[in-house]
Amino acid sequence: MDLVSLRKLIAANEDWLIQRILHHAKKHDYAKYTSTLAEAWRLSISGLSSSLEAGLDHYGAVPELNPDDDFQKDPLTQFGIVEARRHRERGVSLSMFLGLMKYYRQCYRELLDDKEKDGNAPAFSEARLYIERSFDRIEIAFCQEWAGKENHQQIAELQDSNRRITNEKTAYLTVFESISDPVIILNKEHQIINLNHAAISLIDEGSIPGASYYQVDDNRYFSTNALENGRNLTCDSVIGCAFESAFPWLEKAVRKISSTKKQIGAVECNAVINQKQRFFEVKASQMLDISEKYISTILSLREITKRKKAQEDLRESERRYKSLFRNNHAVMLLIDPENGRIMDANPAAVHYYRYDHHTLLTMKISEINTIPPDEVKQEMKFARQQKRNQFFFKHRLATGETRDVEVYSGPITVEGRQLLYSIVHDITDRKKMERALQESNRELDDFAYIASHDLREPLRGIANYATFLMEDYGDEIDDEGKAKLETLKRLCKREEDLIQSLLSYSRLGRTDLKYNTVNLNDLIAEAKETLELSFPDHAFTISVPKSLPSVKCDPVRIGEVFVNLMSNAIKYNERSEKHIEVGYIDTPGHPFNLPEPQAENIAYPVFSISDNGIGIPSKHQEKIFTIFKRLHGRDKFGGGTGAGLTIVKKIIERHGGMIWLESSVGQGTTFYFTLSNQNPRSPACTHS
Ligand code: ADP
Repeated sequence: MDLVSLRKLIAANEDWLIQRILHHAKKHDYAKYTSTLAEAWRLSISGLSSSLEAGLDHYGAVPELNPDDDFQKDPLTQFGIVEARRHRERGVSLSMFLGLMKYYRQCYRELLDDKEKDGNAPAFSEARLYIERSFDRIEIAFCQEWAGKENHQQIAELQDSNRRITNEKTAYLTVFESISDPVIILNKEHQIINLNHAAISLIDEGSIPGASYYQVDDNRYFSTNALENGRNLTCDSVIGCAFESAFPWLEKAVRKISSTKKQIGAVECNAVINQKQRFFEVKASQMLDISEKYISTILSLREITKRKKAQEDLRESERRYKSLFRNNHAVMLLIDPENGRIMDANPAAVHYYRYDHHTLLTMKISEINTIPPDEVKQEMKFARQQKRNQFFFKHRLATGETRDVEVYSGPITVEGRQLLYSIVHDITDRKKMERALQESNRELDDFAYIASHDLREPLRGIANYATFLMEDYGDEIDDEGKAKLETLKRLCKREEDLIQSLLSYSRLGRTDLKYNTVNLNDLIAEAKETLELSFPDHAFTISVPKSLPSVKCDPVRIGEVFVNLMSNAIKYNERSEKHIEVGYIDTPGHPFNLPEPQAENIAYPVFSISDNGIGIPSKHQEKIFTIFKRLHGRDKFGGGTGAGLTIVKKIIERHGGMIWLESSVGQGTTFYFTLSNQNPRSPACTHS
């Protein structure tokens, strides 16, 4: 083998050489003073191989030894010299370093032996001689360098390196002690050889970081079981003892980890520590030490008590929910919002729909709901997004009968799945009653309409006859009689106004609303014109700070609402600067002063009309919506019949909305109203 082939051989066999040197180091006990990580061994082989290559580049032949050679400047020897210095700094003796170097030399020699065995290998004598002479040069170079150091230089070098090593150790110790997860290191016999502060704290709450290191004698890794029964556990009593004596609750987890050959993830365990139950995830890893000096297992624990508690709470709430679901008398369904499948039905639902449980679980909600499947899907989307939780449907029973139902629905997580719950109330009877009530209200409206219509005729007659009397017999009637006739005419006018109000009110109940999409800003502009004509002598301003949305409503009726509320805002206002503000709130959050059930059912947007008028005492705030109810004398504040707010309320309720107010006497009043309820089939609002 020529020297070119030797270069290739060395380069191609780095791993082989590493394995060889490890074998020798372990066999001859050098490993206990050497590095543990594979990378350190690889670096020393690759350093020596590079030196051999550098020698080849430099000499191109076997480098013989001459008495005048300068071994310190030889490219072949540089790596050896540096390594020798490093080892010396660490306190390694020349004899030990030289001894180990002999085994490095042997490895390269063995590589050639191994290749020579192959049979057809050419003569190896030149390559052998090259290895021998090269190692001779390296050894001479570092022995020379070593011998050249004065004692005091060596001591200074050692002290310096000792300081660096101590700093390095301190840094690693600080890191180890600062790790918030408990870490416990076990030897082959499963005795604790080290543990960090987080681990000691599990048995000794008052322990101090670093105590396990500084308070324990140097034999701690080798001491026998230091734990005695009944003795307080502290860090120094724990080191050296079997881990199951210090951490009995870890035993099962460690046994489980050790019994499986394959890599397993974390194993869970729990312990009562200081009367509190705590949960941990335990992981085990083997120390990365190819020198096999430290055959240890590192246990790292991660506390998962919070997660466990959350899981437990979730399980408990699911358990509670299940019992609520099963035992409830209300009809309840669980639906998969993705496809509408009925995932569960409680016994009350089985009884109500008359399907057996199994059949219900094969059905989709669209087989029960009578609206088209696309609409069911849309409604489920609303419920899922919590945009609405109350729905009105017709549900078909197994018997074919359809029933009116009110459904409360919303998202729920069951066993990790996002589902929809539905609580179903049968409102068929209520609907029937509502229809009957509507019918009778309509009849009442018809009656009021006919009666007021018919009453107007004779009333006009009376008023006319009073006028005739004045005109035809004026001369014969004295002043007192004339005054009485005037009062008669005035009373007729008032009666006429009252009947007119009653007519308007009853007409409202008899005609259908004509829905359109209406830009409310236009309605406000029209109302403003009407008010300017009606109140020529009043100075008032109307402001709309935020442009109003478009809504589906009957524009004529809602126009009446605005005119009515705004004319009250002008009438019941004694300030020289009367101010009206029209606005709206489109998302929940405003603290309305409303009782619970009403507050829950607010459908946004909520419109508002505020004034800076006389205000309404709270005890009258209900009454003012009663027909013909006025809070003032007949002719005070411009007069009126007391029917305006009753009509406003009826218009709003016919739109499905509600009206309420907040007022403070002397400061002003705000009327709020909505134009739809949560019922999906109520008119919707669109923003322009
Ligand atoms: P009318 O105005 O014809 O009396 P309404 O039904 O419109 O009848 O109003 C009923 C009563 O409510 C009024 O008489 C008045 O006392 C009170 N009211 C209505 N709006 C306001 C307001 N903005 N400020 C103060 N009081 C009001």
